[in-house]
Amino acid sequence: MRFIILTLFPEAFKSYFDISLIKRALSKKLIKIEVRNLRDWAKDAHKTLDDRPYGGGVGMVMRADVMDRALTALKSKIKSQKSKVILLTPQGQVFNQKLVNKLADYKTLILICGRYEGFDERIRKLVDMEISIGDYVLTGGEIPAMAVLDTVARLVPGVVGKFESTVNESFSDGLLEYPQYTRPENYKGMKVPKVLLSGNHKKVEVWRKQQALKRTRKRRPDLLR
Ligand code: SAM
Repeated sequence: MRFIILTLFPEAFKSYFDISLIKRALSKKLIKIEVRNLRDWAKDAHKTLDDRPYGGGVGMVMRADVMDRALTALKSKIKSQKSKVILLTPQGQVFNQKLVNKLADYKTLILICGRYEGFDERIRKLVDMEISIGDYVLTGGEIPAMAVLDTVARLVPGVVGKFESTVNESFSDGLLEYPQYTRPENYKGMKVPKVLLSGNHKKVEVWRKQQALKRTRKRRPDLLR
């Protein structure tokens, strides 16, 4: 699977892609990541891609013509591949695991990171969808792009090994994950539930399912509706 990230700050991604599962996935060629600087498609000497908003107001707005050139150039390279162009914006569809599962079916995702006050409205016409990672405003789209890339990459076969399996995780079956324990068996009087020490796999499975339901009902009843 291929991810193309359009950003004003390519350097923001280096350290994150150089650790753990993403690093391994890149070295095994399970995923490919291209981080492109939007300024490469700006035409003036100063490589400007923002301008003042018509009608006045604070801040600068990202220009549609620069974005159009960037997307046209990138799309011409991916041609027939199943791809999606995603604008990262607090005004988009709120990101969740269901959407992650859908995005994992694509061959290429183009992720557009905004900065400043956001996008010229006409940029919205150039993309396939808009995603928000939550009801709050970040300085830029780089962290949202990492969140989308990371969550989708985990579903690419081979990226997550059996030790970090995605099967029983929170949201995989619409529930939060059951409580987990490791050694010591008794920590400051807080004991590991007996059933987990019983060696009875059937009982453990039933307990975990009950706990997942109980926890979801308490913390996220909206998931059960
Ligand atoms: N003025 C914009 C608004 O009210 O919608 C917010 C602009 S924000 C300071 C700059 C950029 O950060 C956005 O264009 C977007 O790319 C990114 N961003 C901020 N919050 C986000 C969120 N919750 N989800 C996705 N992207 C976000």
